[in-house]
Amino acid sequence: MRLSRYYLPILKENPKEAEIVSHRLMLRTGMIRQQSQGIYSWLPLGKRVLDKVNRIIREEQDRSGAIELLMPTLQSAELWQESGRYDAYGKEMLRIKDRQDRPMLYGPTNEEMITDIFRSTVKSYKSLPLNLYHIQLKFRDEIRPRFGTMRSREFLMKDAYSFDLTREGAEHSYNKMFTAYLRTFARMGLRAIPMRADTGPIGGNLSHEFIILADTGESEVFCHRDFVNFDIPAEDTDFDDVGGLKKIFDQWTSVYAATSEMHDEAAFDAIPEGERLSARGIEVGHIFYFGTKYSEAMGAKVQGPDGKEHIVHMGSYGIGPTRLVPAIIEASHDENGIIWPASVAPFDVVVINMKAGDEACDKACEEIYAALTRAGKDVLYDDTDDRAGQKFATADLIGVPTQIIVGPRSIAQGEVEVKDRKTGARDTMTVEAAINRVNG
Ligand code: ATP
Ligand code: MG
Repeated sequence: MRLSRYYLPILKENPKEAEIVSHRLMLRTGMIRQQSQGIYSWLPLGKRVLDKVNRIIREEQDRSGAIELLMPTLQSAELWQESGRYDAYGKEMLRIKDRQDRPMLYGPTNEEMITDIFRSTVKSYKSLPLNLYHIQLKFRDEIRPRFGTMRSREFLMKDAYSFDLTREGAEHSYNKMFTAYLRTFARMGLRAIPMRADTGPIGGNLSHEFIILADTGESEVFCHRDFVNFDIPAEDTDFDDVGGLKKIFDQWTSVYAATSEMHDEAAFDAIPEGERLSARGIEVGHIFYFGTKYSEAMGAKVQGPDGKEHIVHMGSYGIGPTRLVPAIIEASHDENGIIWPASVAPFDVVVINMKAGDEACDKACEEIYAALTRAGKDVLYDDTDDRAGQKFATADLIGVPTQIIVGPRSIAQGEVEVKDRKTGARDTMTVEAAINRVNG
């Protein structure tokens, strides 16, 4: 992408309305724009990051055996009347009427709809286990939308829903998602701590919130300090290995499980004083086993191996991609701007032409740009005639992991400078070596 032809509406000044660093940086870099309270457009730079986040989520959901579909944002009120949540949901639900005066709503979540899909299509235990997910916009009329897309009214959610014949089966489905979540967040350069969460009035349920440590977070987490060092499951984890996944789950949840103090003060008190970690954090995911709550109310059952009908056991599993993007920025930035982990960076590399119009500079930049693009890299080429200082500031601000700086003096020696955004380290090398460094 040539910057001269790109759309990158950078703000020079810090926007006054932004209270936290991620919100400030997302506005300054032109990643997002507020359209009305708590409702955002994702501008091209932001959209690139969001797409990369979604791709990681998708890959890990697919790896765990979940299957993607797409449900609509608008739902009929009828389904929610069946489950009893139409009245219970309250003012967070945006209610709409269509031209026939039929009550509709903008979905805040999809348990009812997926249960409806399930009950009308799945009849036998042989189709189980089943986990269906989508990545779709949700709407919740939050009392206090704030911090940009961290807590917005319209937001993207990956929501998965599992169906099993038995409670044991459902626990394995839960452990699959638990494992997939550990991998998902780790691939984004994040350490997410699974925190035991409230499960509401129905006993025997299982729930974890995944929390990224950050001072600006709205959640509190209490755990053993070793939690930040636990192993992340490997890519070749066998998701059909019931015992293996249980072991992963146990490592993270048995001893000194992370908890919100509200949930279980005793668990925290059991940890030796010098080994306690109490911190604030951002909830980026939430997994939930709720048994037969919706399947019972909505008649989702299958024929079992015994020939009888069984109400299915369900779980639901959410991740907030539009919250993850600011969460990653909260975890990775400095005074000059964002520092993207390579896996979610909007571009892999930015080529900075310090003197656009200079024959040697242009030629070298074009060569690097073409070679890296050919190699499948996402390349931003700053071919504008801005001042060099301005270009450096922009490159640092938008946080692309590697910068290749091409200036008239060094290119006369056949050399360019390669700068690592994270460490600030600069190395001088030949054009070819610079290309190899990025490709390597
Ligand atoms: P919170 O306590 O932050 O309101 P929640 O418990 O209501 O979250 P869930 O219903 O579990 O959230 O939704 C699953 C995921 O969707 C959350 O873990 C979060 O990542 C994301 N999410 C929820 N509400 C919002 C929001 N208003 N803006 C952005 N992301 C959200
Ligand atoms: Mg909420």
